[in-house]
Amino acid sequence: MERLTQDIRACRICADRFTQTATGHAPRPVVWARPGARILVAGQAPGARVHESGRPFTDPSGDRLRDWMGIDDQTFYDRDRLAIVPMAFCFPGYNAKGSDLPPPPVCARTWRGKMMDALGQVRLRILVGAYAMRWHLGWKGRVDDAVRNWRDHAPATFVLPHPSWRNTAWLKRNPFFEAEVVPALRLAVKEALQ
Ligand code: SF4
Repeated sequence: MERLTQDIRACRICADRFTQTATGHAPRPVVWARPGARILVAGQAPGARVHESGRPFTDPSGDRLRDWMGIDDQTFYDRDRLAIVPMAFCFPGYNAKGSDLPPPPVCARTWRGKMMDALGQVRLRILVGAYAMRWHLGWKGRVDDAVRNWRDHAPATFVLPHPSWRNTAWLKRNPFFEAEVVPALRLAVKEALQ
């Protein structure tokens, strides 16, 4: 894992791709994993704030995700307990309209299998958004449908919408998520950490 982490941190495969985005940034892989972690958080890709901080989920999405999971910052960032492995390790940038670009597929093709092998078995997988659901479950449908059918995968795997502010309206339209999924997720997280 140590060698793999070094290799990913040195990765510059997407350098040309990123210079052509509206942000024109350089790759900065954010790797947050150690073997033996009990919980895998499989996210989408770092955002602009995480690109700056070098720590995953140091943004309002992270605050919301920690709230859903029922854990504090200290627990969330304890690499011996949580591995945070997005579908791309770098911020993909914004397009000309200022929207987030998707995670470059080359990242998962290059690194994800190796990272999952190095991580080993976890007690709980938390899949955030469509890209993680596709890779880990082969899910080809809508995130909305996957989340509605969350019991198909729980309690070993939870499928979540992205905790971004962009999904606040969805959360308001779908109170079952806060009423049913969040309490079950908190219990699964608590049990996985015990
Ligand atoms: S997104 Fe992944 S493949 Fe692309 S430069 Fe970053 S670590 Fe490398």
